[in-house]
Amino acid sequence: MLKDSKFSSHLLHLSQLQIINHKTLDEYRDRLKTYEDYLWFGKPDQISAIECSRRGWACQSNDLIECVNCHAQIFAQLPSVLKKEQYTECIENICQSLVNSHHRYCVWKFMIIPESIVQLTDIYSNETVNRLLKEAEEFLSHINQIDIVGQLQTIFQIESTDFDLLSSSYLNDPRLISAFKIRVFCWKFNNSLLICDKCCREIRINMNHFVFDPILSHRAWCPILKNNQWKKRIEQIENILYKKSRNKISEIKTNNDHTTENILPDIISTQNLFHELISSKEYYRSCVQSTFDDNTSTSDMDRTNNESI
Ligand SMILES: [Zn+2]
Ligand SMILES: [Zn+2]
Repeated sequence: MLKDSKFSSHLLHLSQLQIINHKTLDEYRDRLKTYEDYLWFGKPDQISAIECSRRGWACQSNDLIECVNCHAQIFAQLPSVLKKEQYTECIENICQSLVNSHHRYCVWKFMIIPESIVQLTDIYSNETVNRLLKEAEEFLSHINQIDIVGQLQTIFQIESTDFDLLSSSYLNDPRLISAFKIRVFCWKFNNSLLICDKCCREIRINMNHFVFDPILSHRAWCPILKNNQWKKRIEQIENILYKKSRNKISEIKTNNDHTTENILPDIISTQNLFHELISSKEYYRSCVQSTFDDNTSTSDMDRTNNESI
């Protein structure tokens, strides 16, 4: 057996950990990837893959984890949940072992990956939405067709006209909204792989025709699935888009009151602004077209717009 002094010289020390933040986070994600569902199955939150990884443990085999630094091991086979007392006691013991089983000089005895890394960041600004959209757009040059399946088909209804897309070459491309719906739920595009930022699941992408469920493809313990976080994310985005849309509509209405005679050229030149005034892009096109064809008066258009809102 190694003496403490000799053994501790091989260990990662606290001072080293503090200066290698990016490396430390990469290593945390590497540990997380080892917790395959069939190896670390049915574990409660206290000893979930995330909690173990945060304290330096990687999964070795069925119910067995090992510290990547001091190589201590914990065997975590749980009794049946029907034996309630035994089950609870066993979880408490394993939970304490996540700290106590490390070697006395192992840095993971004192350190833990901050919870902020695990938690989802709220989306509260239009800048964040635009950044996610930009990242989704960059993905499109690699892929021919994307189909979103699952619950998002019905409960996350957004259109390209909801965004500031004047500069985008993908304005009429349905792939853009699909890619956005993927990026929003923590999936990052990495060449031919999709990787969840939170549970580190990796999905190989079929570049010709990618069919994907951005929610159910996460691991069962992914933070995005906890407490319906993914539904809160949809609400946050819809709130931002709705608020932005309402602001622009009121802006246009104010302009209407003061400069009725100038509003038509303004609407035509600020295509994106007008997108948000009416409910659908197709309707907008027909409306603008009829304005040119039929010489529809500005006041007629205003009335039509108000009805469509
Ligand atoms: Zn250790
Ligand atoms: Zn995930």
